[in-house]
Amino acid sequence: MKYTETTYPIKWSYTGRHEDVIVGVFHFISAINMPGFHDKPFNIQEILRMFKEGVEWGGKTHHFSAHRLINRNGDRYNLVALRDRAWHVGDSYTDFGKYRTSVNNFSNGYELVATENSGYTEEQYESLAEAVLQDNERLMNQHLGKMIHFVGHDWVAGQTAYKLGLRKDIKKDPGKLFDWDRFHDEYICQYSQMHFIPKPTPPVKPKRRSFMEFFRRFRFK
Ligand SMILES: [Zn+2]
Repeated sequence: MKYTETTYPIKWSYTGRHEDVIVGVFHFISAINMPGFHDKPFNIQEILRMFKEGVEWGGKTHHFSAHRLINRNGDRYNLVALRDRAWHVGDSYTDFGKYRTSVNNFSNGYELVATENSGYTEEQYESLAEAVLQDNERLMNQHLGKMIHFVGHDWVAGQTAYKLGLRKDIKKDPGKLFDWDRFHDEYICQYSQMHFIPKPTPPVKPKRRSFMEFFRRFRFK
């Protein structure tokens, strides 16, 4: 494991799973809208506080959570156990094979520390791939499923979810700056390291027997 993991339990989740986990949902989060943190959007202590205490808007406190939070340097915070359902997607849908809503029930949530305009660090792509691979091993060991689809929050709770009348706002994270190819490459690369897939070796050509060898074998004694 290249990046550190800290357990920082957040109580905002539903206990247990009734459906197999098949989706990984990626998000961004920052403290940019918190009073006093406009110029310190990546302050990890403030972000952890947001998870723990919730965020005020519209005169209400809103609580949310995710399974993992990935800092700019790649370090990870484990917020919710994989066997529980984090509150990371909200009203949402997918159409992998069949139309389903309430993606929280069958997904894992990954929050990356970033803003709409910051982009993501190399360490975050590496750490995200590491986390996803590790979580798939853990999910399979606990018979909780396996993530085979990876999507953005903006995909399952974006324009289409809004048009379907599932939600009143349109989610925009992780956004256009999230490099899906970069994640995919890192995921494949780490997967092959983890499972020691050897490079295919060229077939060995059979040696041609020399004339002398042939002669020796059949010579008269
Ligand atoms: Zn999100």
